[in-house]
Amino acid sequence: MQQLLFVFLLVFSSSSFAAKISITMDDFNVHEETLLTAPERNKKLLSVLKKHRAKAAMFVACKHLKTDRDQNLLRDWATAGHMVGSHTVNHKKFDAKVLVEDEINDIQACHERLKGEAGYVKIFRFPMLAEGDTVEKRDAVREWLKKNDYRFGHVTIDASDWYIDQRLRQKLQADPKFDLNKFKDFYLQHMWERAQYYNDLSKKVMGREVTHTLLVHYNLLNALFLDDLITMFKRQGWKVVDAKKAFQDPVFGILPNSMPSGQSVLWGLAKESGKFENILRYPGENDTYEKEKMDALGL
Ligand SMILES: [Zn+2]
Repeated sequence: MQQLLFVFLLVFSSSSFAAKISITMDDFNVHEETLLTAPERNKKLLSVLKKHRAKAAMFVACKHLKTDRDQNLLRDWATAGHMVGSHTVNHKKFDAKVLVEDEINDIQACHERLKGEAGYVKIFRFPMLAEGDTVEKRDAVREWLKKNDYRFGHVTIDASDWYIDQRLRQKLQADPKFDLNKFKDFYLQHMWERAQYYNDLSKKVMGREVTHTLLVHYNLLNALFLDDLITMFKRQGWKVVDAKKAFQDPVFGILPNSMPSGQSVLWGLAKESGKFENILRYPGENDTYEKEKMDALGL
């Protein structure tokens, strides 16, 4: 009987109580083709997601859709059952230089490009997770999005994979034979660290572990190491779920009333509460936090 109970607890704890994570991928920059062509990168990423039976969400910066090839590569994602969302055409940071009407035009223009695409749903993610430099601008665009039936494609686990990718490509240019496993190790450690930080923040702010949306980018780094990344989360006992399912978590219906705006939605909620200043940095994630560590490792 005790043995049975033990097995039951083991099974139950590994399914119901496991932290849950989904893959959300930004930008769809098919024009950065170091080492792999865009079709090769597409194939690799899609095969990794298939292997792990994970349906992702792709937030497309529409300026990258230049040719039929690009459009077809995106279609491969929809065909494989992944979600496609919008990330503006021009991928500008919504800061003091961008007016509310410019931001809305940019969102609308990307919608026009994507609306005929299979897999497209009206879900929007702000470039660089920047929701406007004033409360008025933030709320004006939020209101417009709500009025126009958009859902908010919040990130819960933010990180700096884009910066590690940038350094990896620079390194390859200088030294094509560099051992890329060193980048893999740094990347996995960075992502695990950030995942634990945001999951901990979730427990503090929400009183529970939300179903996470992990932010990664459509880049060489992930073409090389997304498989290792997902495997790492699984080994740590996390469950990988479909992005569509993750976005059903009630946390994605909340709009934090905090400034500076944006960041991880968990960061925003923690900021709004005023209780966690000691564990919040701004921006939540940035290259400056990783530079010294990477320099020291020769990456
Ligand atoms: Zn982006």
